[in-house]
Amino acid sequence: MYTTPAAQRPSKARGTVGVMADDPTVPIAGEPVGASTLLEALEQLRAKGFDRDMFVTADAMVRCGSCHHDMAPSELNLVHLLRLEGVSDPGEEAVVLALECTVCHARGTAILRFGPEAGPQDDAVLLAVADHR
Ligand SMILES: [Zn+2]
Repeated sequence: MYTTPAAQRPSKARGTVGVMADDPTVPIAGEPVGASTLLEALEQLRAKGFDRDMFVTADAMVRCGSCHHDMAPSELNLVHLLRLEGVSDPGEEAVVLALECTVCHARGTAILRFGPEAGPQDDAVLLAVADHR
C-alpha cells in the first residue's frame, strides 16, 4: 500500500525577527508616568480630565472629538506627551498626546503609533509636535 508522506512542510527558516531599532530621529521628551500600557496611560489621562477622543486624520491634522475641529500639529495645545515603549507588546509602541482643543477647549487624548504600524500621518504629527515643544 502506498503511503503518502505526512504533511511535509519545510522547517521554518530562521528568519530575522524584525529588529526594532530605537529611532533617534524622533526626539520625544515624555513626562515619566507610571503607565506601562496604553490602557493605563489613557486611564491616567482620563482621570486628569482628558476624557475626549482626539484623533489623527489622514492629512496629518488632529481632530477634536468634541467639536470636530481639525487642528494643525503646530497649533495644538499640548499638555502632556507620553511615550509607551511597548515592553510586553511591540504593537503597543505609541505616543499618547494629551491636549486641549483650541476651539472648544475640550480635553482629550490622541494616540500616535510609531514603528511598523505607523502611517505617514502619525509620523508627520509626531515630528511637528516634537518641533513645537
Ligand atoms: Zn474642540
